[in-house]
Amino acid sequence: MKNAIEIKNLTKKYGTFTAVDSISLTVKKGDIFGFLGHNGAGKTTTTNMLTTLLEPTSGRATIAGFDILSKPIKVRQNIGYVPENVQLYDTLTAYENLEFFANLSGIAHPKDSINETLEFLDAVSFVHKKIGELSKGMRQRIGLAQAIIHKPSVLFLDEPSAGLDPTGIKQLREIILRLNKEEGTTIFMNTHLLLEVSKICTAIGVLNHGKLVYTDTLANTLKRFKNEDSLEQIYFSIESDTNDK
Ligand code: ATP
Repeated sequence: MKNAIEIKNLTKKYGTFTAVDSISLTVKKGDIFGFLGHNGAGKTTTTNMLTTLLEPTSGRATIAGFDILSKPIKVRQNIGYVPENVQLYDTLTAYENLEFFANLSGIAHPKDSINETLEFLDAVSFVHKKIGELSKGMRQRIGLAQAIIHKPSVLFLDEPSAGLDPTGIKQLREIILRLNKEEGTTIFMNTHLLLEVSKICTAIGVLNHGKLVYTDTLANTLKRFKNEDSLEQIYFSIESDTNDK
């Protein structure tokens, strides 16, 4: 299987409003895919459908070869998801939260997996603090730990850098790169931080008012738009081209 994610005509309507409009997209195994688009473009709605949290109105998608509609449990076993607002129990410690989720997911050796994940994320030092006492960056690290404890082959991140300071953003970038290199994890990342995208993504897609208006590898994109001097300029050029049509 070459593709981690295959999306065909995926659509979501909220009443008469079409939030995601028949998008078709492929993300190759091992890619770090940057999913770009203005506020309200439909990125979270797409991610929620791909992670089986939201039922599509029409269309289909497979994740790691499993259909989101007919094999949702298989999909969940093969993915991790860090939503923009990580949901954890504030009154439990970070470790207790991870224990709770590890037990729920039924992994074979929960304690070993938790410790291994915490070491990988360099999060051992604050694991016995209550979630309510953690900084945004630490909390996000625990959200990430929860999402990768079962070693998913595809990891979805929704605005992972939101609210992080420059050090936190750099650490997160290094973690994403290590996960991708050492574990072979495919990453699907909704983001507004184009500098981050230019540093780590191998492919991008641009969503504009629910429509996928562009997708290609980062290398091809930089070649095709060689007269633009940054990914930010390229992004604006793609957006304004499609708004003009
Ligand atoms: P952002 O970058 O701001 O997070 P986004 O690209 O993730 O935005 P979505 O959150 O997917 O965008 O929202 C897409 C559109 O769908 C928006 O116009 C939003 O108002 C609308 N929308 C999202 N959820 C619902 C809902 N439950 N009911 C009705 N409309 C919704």
